[in-house]
Amino acid sequence: MDVNRTVPFVDWDSAPFWEKLKEGKFMLMECSECHHVFFPARIICPECWSSALVWREASGNGVIYSFTTVEAGATAAFELLTPYTIALITLEEGCRVFGMLRHGAERTPAIGAQVRCDFEIDSNSGFVFPVFGLV
Ligand SMILES: [Zn+2]
Repeated sequence: MDVNRTVPFVDWDSAPFWEKLKEGKFMLMECSECHHVFFPARIICPECWSSALVWREASGNGVIYSFTTVEAGATAAFELLTPYTIALITLEEGCRVFGMLRHGAERTPAIGAQVRCDFEIDSNSGFVFPVFGLV
């Protein structure tokens, strides 16, 4: 699906995440010391404060922890996408991420529903964005 949206600010710690999205990979960080898996990227582990971190590809599978549908009052960056659904998703790897949730009127989201990550490209910027869909 082609989208046209405001692009994110990319800094040195998030650049690998955005680059791997172009390959269809959703990346998480894993601590080499305590094996805690987390998102977004940080320079130290939020559990043990180690700086020994590696990127790890997520399965893309998760379940909806919570969600909301924005039907009006979106900021300018998301106005063209209205109505849209944002979900807090618990990934198989154990960490939670916010993500855009695509669904049709015939399939409404529910807490605990299984989702899978897919990818959308913005043809104007070349950015690839993760989106989640009901399984
Ligand atoms: Zn750690």
